Amino acid sequence: MTKTDIRSLNMAELTAEIEKRGLPKFRAAQIFAWLYEKGVRSFSEMTNLPKNLRETLEAEFEIKNCTIDTKLCSAVDDTVKYLFELNDGEYIESVVMKYKYGYTICISSQLGCKMGCSFCASAIGGFQRHLTPSEMLSEIYTAQSDLGIRISHIVLMGTGEPLDNYENVMRFLELVTDEKGLNISMRHISLSTCGVVPRIYDLAEKRLGLTLSVSLHAPNDKIRSQTMPVNQKWNIDELLDACRYYAKVTSRRISFEYAMIDGFNDTDTCAMELASRLRGMLCHINLIPVNTVREKAYRKSNEDRIRRFSKILEQNGLTVTVRRTLGSDINASCGQLRASKRR
Ligand code: SAH
Repeated sequence: MTKTDIRSLNMAELTAEIEKRGLPKFRAAQIFAWLYEKGVRSFSEMTNLPKNLRETLEAEFEIKNCTIDTKLCSAVDDTVKYLFELNDGEYIESVVMKYKYGYTICISSQLGCKMGCSFCASAIGGFQRHLTPSEMLSEIYTAQSDLGIRISHIVLMGTGEPLDNYENVMRFLELVTDEKGLNISMRHISLSTCGVVPRIYDLAEKRLGLTLSVSLHAPNDKIRSQTMPVNQKWNIDELLDACRYYAKVTSRRISFEYAMIDGFNDTDTCAMELASRLRGMLCHINLIPVNTVREKAYRKSNEDRIRRFSKILEQNGLTVTVRRTLGSDINASCGQLRASKRR
C-alpha cells in the first residue's frame, strides 16, 4: 500500500482523514502544527499525540523530507547552497541568500526540467518528475533548521518550471502562506516562469499577490527561439499579452528576467527593441550577467555593456536593476550541483 503524503494535505483534507478514523477534530490541528509550523521530520516527534495514534499515522502516512547531501557555504557572502536527497534517493538543489530584509530561499519545483533552455544547467539530463508540495516545503524546513534561522522570502527560481507543475505549486503556495504554518506572506514570494502562457492567465485569475517573474532573455522571436524552445509554442507577442493581462488584473508589476549573453542579446539594437516592446507596461527589468555553465559555450556580457544596455532601457522610461551576484565562489546558480552529481 502506498502511504499518503501527509505534508501535502491542507487543513480540510487532514481533518477529513482524522474524522474518517473516528478521532477528535482537535487532533488534526495538533498534527497540522507539527507538520507545517514546526516542520517535524517524523511522527515520533509529535509528542502530544497518544502513542497508538502516532503508530497509526506511521503505518498509513508518509512525511516527505529532505536530507542534506552537500552544503556549500560562500566565503564571500552568506549564501548557502544545498544538495538535498529526497525520500526516493533523487537530488534537488536549494540556495539560501541573506539580504538586508531577511533570508530568501530559492527552491526547486521539479526534478529536472522539460523546457530545454540552452543556457540553463537545469535542462541537462532532462525531466524526471514533479516535486510534491511536501517536498518543496521540506526544502524550507530543512534549511531553516540547519541554519537556525527563519526564512521570510521565497523565490521559485530553482530547477524546474513552476507553471508546468501548476497544481502542486498552487498547493505549496496555499500551505506555505497558511497562518498556522510557515505564514510567509504572498508579497514575499516570487514565481519565475519561462512563459507557459495559459498558466499565466490561470494564475492571474487567482489574484495571489505574489510577484510574477518572466524569463524573457531576448527582444525578438528570432533570438528567443534560438535559446528557449518554449518560444516556439508561445511567442513573445502571446507572452507579453498574457503579462499585460496579469498586470492589469492583479495591479502587480511583472519582473522580466534578462540574462545578458556576450554578443548574442546584449547589443544596443537589442536594448532599443526590448524597450519598444515593453514601453508603457507595468514592469521591471532585471538584467543578469549570464552564469557560465560548464557544459555551455555562453559568456557573460562585460560590465560596460550591461551598463550601457541598462541606460538605454532607462532612457526609454523603463525601470531596471542589474542583479548582484551572490555565492559566486560556490556556483550558486540553479542546477549546477545536481548536474555534477548526475554526471
Ligand atoms: N523555469 C523557470 C524558473 C527556473 S530558472 C524560468 O525559466 O523562469 C530561474 C531563472 O534563472 C530564469 O530566469 C532562468 O532563465 C535563469 N537562468 C537559467 N540559467 C541561467 C544562466 N546560466 N545564467 C543566468 N540565468 C540563468
